[in-house]
Formats: sequence, C-alpha cells, structure tokens
Amino acid sequence: MTTTDKAVDNRTPGETRRVHVREVGPRDGFQNEPETIATPDKIALINALGQSGFDRIEVASFVRPDVLPQLADGVEVLRSIEVPDHVRRQVLVPNSKGLDNALRVRDLFEDVALFVSSSQTHNRKNINRTVEETMADVQVMGKRVLAEDLGLCSVIATSFGCPYEGHVPIDDVLDLAEQFAEAGATEIGFGDTTGMANPAYVTRFFQRAFERLPGVELTAHFHNTRGQGLANAYAALEAGCTSFESSFGELGGCPVPAGSTGNIATEDLVSMFHEMGVETGIDLVATIEAAREAQEVLGRKLTSHSIVAGPVLWGGVPA
Ligand code: ZN
Repeated sequence: MTTTDKAVDNRTPGETRRVHVREVGPRDGFQNEPETIATPDKIALINALGQSGFDRIEVASFVRPDVLPQLADGVEVLRSIEVPDHVRRQVLVPNSKGLDNALRVRDLFEDVALFVSSSQTHNRKNINRTVEETMADVQVMGKRVLAEDLGLCSVIATSFGCPYEGHVPIDDVLDLAEQFAEAGATEIGFGDTTGMANPAYVTRFFQRAFERLPGVELTAHFHNTRGQGLANAYAALEAGCTSFESSFGELGGCPVPAGSTGNIATEDLVSMFHEMGVETGIDLVATIEAAREAQEVLGRKLTSHSIVAGPVLWGGVPA
C-alpha cells in the first residue's frame, strides 16, 4: 500500500466494507417510460430482480393513476410478484389519500417511502403542494405508517440543487431531513433528481448530514443526468455513506423538467463497488441479465454500461 492509499483508507487492514444497494427501477424507472409497460412484463422483471440479492425493491407508487398512468397497475403488480422473504417491498406514497389506498393492501409491502422536494417550485410542479403542506402531511402519515408496523423511509428530491431555483443550502435540506426523522423515518434518502450534484459537493453534503443526523440511515440516490452519477456515489461512499439507491438498466428520471434522465445503473454501481472490494450481496450477473430483459421489453437501447460490456473478468484492487 502506498502512502497516498493510506491517506484515504482509514480502515483497519483486512476490513471489508459492505453497503446496501436498493433497487428503485420498477418505480423510478418504469414511471418515466413514455410507453406503459405491460403488467406481466413488470412482474417478470421484478421477479428477476428479486432473485438478484437485493434486500429492498421499490415496486409501486400510490400517486394518482391519472397523474402517473405508467404505474396505475401498482396493486396488481404487488399482488402478483413473487420475491424471496428477505426482500422488502417498498411503495412510494405522495399524500394521505395515497396512503389510504396503500393501506387497503397493507399486507403486500413492508416499507413506505414518503417524499418532498427541497425547493418549493419543484415540489409544486411534482406534487402540486407547498413544502410546508407536504411536511405537515408527513407528520400525520408517519404516525399511521408506524401504527401499521411498517418501515418508514423518506426521500428528499432536489437535495443537491433545483432545476428551477438553483442551489439549495445544505442546512435547508437537512432541516427537512430532521422533520422526517421526527416523523419516525429511520432512513432518509437524498435524491439528485435532475443530476445537479458533483463529487466535491457530495462530500461536503454527506459530512454535514452525518453531523446533523446521527443514528439515521442516510441514503444516496443519484441520477446520471450529466454523467457524474458514479463519481458522486464514490464521493458519498468515501464520506461514510453505506446506503444507495439505483435503477437497473439506468432507467428512471423525473417527470419535471423534461430531459431529467435516468438513475445511475444498478449494475454499473454494483460493478464499481465489487471492483473496489466493497461488498453488496448482489449478484451482478443476474442484475445485468435483468437489465438486458428490460431492454428487450422496452425495445430500445438502455444507457447502462454493464449491459453492453458485461461484468469484468478480473476484479479487485491488485496488492
Ligand atoms: Zn430518482
């Protein structure tokens, strides 16, 4: 090991790092497809992901079907998928009405994710409410979710900048994160919804986030809109982040504004981590296969690198 290596690697020798990679493609990805994906195809893809070693998959959203027709079959998908018991099925819920609908099928999932945007303009364009209205509802919804003995997670969209309002101060984002924690969320995700983060900023962001939210699991959710997704994930890892969300095939994006393309590809992220000696528990080959299946179903080339190149044949960090 060289001196430079020592400067960045403060683990005890032989210690293996392990992270969680959570799959959000069936929700974040499918909702952004211009065509509606047939329900049986969604079920087959989620079942394939279920066999790939993820401990959580976001499978449905309870956003109004007229707003997001791509996910209108959420309940049918939840009813029909077959994933191993260790896979937590997560649903995204935008408001109390959506939670009413979700709780009608409460036995079909384990985790609820609530969300808000850090900026007023993006929140209004995305879910047509102010940030304050959303957060007031979060406090009410949080109690109901916990009373049902479900896991409560949360995501703050545009955490690294808003395409309409520009820079959002880190502490403003973390004020919202604290409100989620007060509502009972045990995990808070920071979404780079439109790909505005950069590695230097991500480092500073997570250092501050860990200072302000001790004991809360913090999740990095990067989009690869401008090609900086993996660099941002690396920066988050080095800042101590051990939880990541990504989307197989690099599917995904955001409904607003146009051009907000996909999440980082799960298989590219897992490939990078495995190469670095960071364990994920995920079967990379199976994930690449699932992404290739998605490519078949969609009938267009997806932007993931690993589905083109395949897994590397030698790995690790040479001594
Ligand atoms: Zn996303």
